[in-house]
Amino acid sequence: MKTVAIVPAGGKGRRFLTTGRKKQFLELAGVPIIIHTLWALQSADVIDSMVLVVPEEDRDWFGKEIPRYGVDKVKVIVPGGEHRQDSVWAGILATDEDADILLVHDGVRPLVEERLIENTVRAAREYGAALAALSVTDTVKLCNPDGWVINTLPRDNIFLAQTPQAFRRDIIVSAFEAAYRERFYGTDESSLVERLGWPVHIVPGSHLNIKITWPEDLTLAQFLMRRT
Ligand code: C5P
Repeated sequence: MKTVAIVPAGGKGRRFLTTGRKKQFLELAGVPIIIHTLWALQSADVIDSMVLVVPEEDRDWFGKEIPRYGVDKVKVIVPGGEHRQDSVWAGILATDEDADILLVHDGVRPLVEERLIENTVRAAREYGAALAALSVTDTVKLCNPDGWVINTLPRDNIFLAQTPQAFRRDIIVSAFEAAYRERFYGTDESSLVERLGWPVHIVPGSHLNIKITWPEDLTLAQFLMRRT
């Protein structure tokens, strides 16, 4: 039994306005965010190896820097695609056939805890498909594009999807193949598996496991990192 982590860090689009740098290269405690994420996965015993997906133009930098940071579970570095889904698919295609569980974790979620990685892999082994997700505490409104409320959704049934998301290899491969056949693009892997009709299990996510997107997220991550 072998679990391979696929780490999409191939995004080129959204840059921090303040620095113009790709967000996965911004530094937390003097080290790029992506390296913190790789360290978190590296230290999880359930992860056997990793495939890192990066923008084509940054491949050389990663090839040189990753060994310097002691991340020896990264076995392959592949170029990303236009959308996140394309980058994850490139990562899946680079995994060994004998990897029976594939776990996907965003390169920009550096504070993921080992327990969450373990729980997600365990659930994927048991149910075939699992993702970390958070219940919501705010009241949720469905709105139209003009900013008017349509109605209020029952929040007990609403969850916010995070990564890690983990799947049996045959399930995630079938889900991606079906999505490409039907020209469907999702913003996470679970949505592709759901379309197959395969049940996806929810693992309680973590409020520490933030996705660094906005400048404020970086400030929060710096604060959380000092506390943990
Ligand atoms: O854009 P978003 O915040 O959803 O990105 C989540 C993760 O997916 C990031 O680590 C980003 O670098 C990665 N990504 C990618 N390839 C893309 C777009 C995003 O690997 N084309």
